Amino acid sequence: MVMKIQTTFFKYNINNQTGANASSISVIPKNTGITKDVVSFSSANVDKEDAYNLRNLPGLTCACCGKKMINEADYRRLKTKDFQGPAYPVLKKLKPFVPFMKPTEKTVYNLLKRASSKDPNADLNTLLRKRYYYHLGRLEVKQLGIINKAISQKLELSSESQAELDKTMQKVREILFVEPKHSRQKRERVINEFVKLKQICPEKNEIDKIIKVVQTLPNSKDDVDSFIIKYTQRGNREIGQRLLSPSLPTLDHIKPASKSGHDDFSNLIVMCEKCNSARGSIHYQEWFKIHPEMPENIQKNINKIIKAINTKKLQNFDTYPLDIKETLEKETNGQIILNIDDYHAPVRELMVLDDLDSASSTINFGV
Ligand SMILES: [Zn+2]
Repeated sequence: MVMKIQTTFFKYNINNQTGANASSISVIPKNTGITKDVVSFSSANVDKEDAYNLRNLPGLTCACCGKKMINEADYRRLKTKDFQGPAYPVLKKLKPFVPFMKPTEKTVYNLLKRASSKDPNADLNTLLRKRYYYHLGRLEVKQLGIINKAISQKLELSSESQAELDKTMQKVREILFVEPKHSRQKRERVINEFVKLKQICPEKNEIDKIIKVVQTLPNSKDDVDSFIIKYTQRGNREIGQRLLSPSLPTLDHIKPASKSGHDDFSNLIVMCEKCNSARGSIHYQEWFKIHPEMPENIQKNINKIIKAINTKKLQNFDTYPLDIKETLEKETNGQIILNIDDYHAPVRELMVLDDLDSASSTINFGV
């Protein structure tokens, strides 16, 4: 039996809702500099202007979650200085984006708004730092619970594998509870320790059972405490941008680039940043099992694009509905068959087709 990690690792009083005192807060490194843009809009090597037009169709919904996305043009109007200074006016500038925010970001926004009304001169970073220890305590309780749950399962391991699991647990304890709290990628590194354990243990299925639970460790995208611990180490600009970035439109490769998918519009679909990064390079058919609503949301997304093409609000995408229908059908083995009945091929295309028909008819008559 593996020794569970004990709660004695905690140094913080999680019931202290007001956070630590000012002197203990000052030891946390503060990054007030301007760092590079956390949002990448150049994920695909496509014509930037075309990509911009496709992503910014008014009211376009994410092909995965179906939620409306933040208009990139509106986002681009925000300047670095818009995130600096007292949080209250900063949050006011971000208010129009709140309906588009993801649940974690919306919760953090509301939490910052409440905190800023009590502390009107504090900037975003200061407000997060004041809550640091409270959220750290909560986060560590969750991490501890998940790790202990993972190893408390009924596991059939040889004594050698058990010894290796003990070693892994020691490393995990170091990463989560001994290393500096702001060390990056803790969750990924913990998962990786168990992946390495799987490689050396013959009982693969047993270690998979552990990994499955460990994968539920909180991350900053889905957990407010994790978000706050991560972004206490970032500057005001990054904090402000991060409230918006998961809701921004990005281009997702239907066939992943890592599996030789093309950087071409026939392989690209508009998805919010959160869904795009969560998907990674998982095959669409596998991804649909996690997101059964996605086929319906893809259709809604394409319907909007077809409408924009039909009404000439989107140029240079005349063959997009046909191309994307073909790609989806092929990549999902026929699981997705888009309905593009509303799509009217542009007149010039029809003329070309008519010309070809008459030309081929002439040839046929001649034979
Ligand atoms: Zn989405």
